Amino acid sequence: MTIQRKVEALIRPEIRALKAYHVPDAAGLIKLDAMENPYTWPEEVRQAWLGVLRDVAINRYPDPGARALKASLRTALRVPEGGEIILGNGSDELIQIILMALAKPNAVVLAPTPTFVMYEMIATFTGMKFVGVPLTEDFALDLPAMRVAIATHKPAVIFLAYPNNPTGNLFSREAVEEIIRTAPGLVVVDEAYHAFAGETLMNRLTEHDHLLVMRTLSKQGLAGLRLGLLAGAASWLNEFDKVRLPYNIGSLTQASGLFALKHMELLDAQAAQIRTDRERLYEVLRGMPGVQVWPSRTNFILFRVESRKADGVFESLRRSGVLIKNLNPAGGSLAGCLRVTVGTPQENAAFLKALEKAL
Ligand code: PMP
Repeated sequence: MTIQRKVEALIRPEIRALKAYHVPDAAGLIKLDAMENPYTWPEEVRQAWLGVLRDVAINRYPDPGARALKASLRTALRVPEGGEIILGNGSDELIQIILMALAKPNAVVLAPTPTFVMYEMIATFTGMKFVGVPLTEDFALDLPAMRVAIATHKPAVIFLAYPNNPTGNLFSREAVEEIIRTAPGLVVVDEAYHAFAGETLMNRLTEHDHLLVMRTLSKQGLAGLRLGLLAGAASWLNEFDKVRLPYNIGSLTQASGLFALKHMELLDAQAAQIRTDRERLYEVLRGMPGVQVWPSRTNFILFRVESRKADGVFESLRRSGVLIKNLNPAGGSLAGCLRVTVGTPQENAAFLKALEKAL
């Protein structure tokens, strides 16, 4: 038997049908494709961080419960009394943990689309059914359609990215609250972009026992650390904790996370700078002929050019040394769309110059 035949015989067809999550090579390019924070820490902070890392007992397994880090996160992220938390290797891993625990045959994962692609991908990994409910033309929640889909599919879990990726907008609070009230299963409110939006449902956890709130440190300058957090009622999290691999948060991550939380004012100042620069970038894009742009509550901006030009604009930007995200291949409501992460003022200027040239 050829190896290809063996692969076909053993690997699940839905996995073979998937395309691996593609991360383009950014070597030598201004990297505005992945919602990273462009800023590092001042030298004295980096030195202090290295001092902390020097004392980590790397020969030992990490604390499996990451207790010190969890206590510090609870305070920093204002998790309400009575709410529990678990940590993941990025919020990606938390999505995986949730779905592994829920993946009964025929169980449904529902989300408004377009949204963060990992909800659907991990639903597929875990053998669950994904139902996407299209957003309205201006990327708002389509409440009537959501009501019908919820009644029809009775999803085990609904994911709401709040604000949403890749559209950048914050769904209306009333619509989100209605979905929480009507959901027959869990609702995960994914607040990955909280630092740039301000709004949160963290304070509603105690009111709704089927609500979970997810956060990550990735967009606040710690994407390389891989640290996400899920908050909610202990009854759920105790079950999820059984699916979590015991040492999923390494010692270096635990020590670095603890250190970073002691410098929250630094992370907050960087986020404030990014919010200011986002508004500047938005205003310039808004004035560009041939560009449609949407207001953003995140650290990125979605914009649209003529759809037959989008791939060319993306390539031209790359040739000019600027990497953004091309969403045109996704088609549908994202036809012609490109997504740019807010960088430093210099990076944003280089992007705008390259875009003008590309158009
Ligand atoms: N949720 C949303 C809405 C995102 O956009 C992202 C990253 N693109 C994530 C979760 C995953 O973040 P991480 O795994 O880095 O915590």
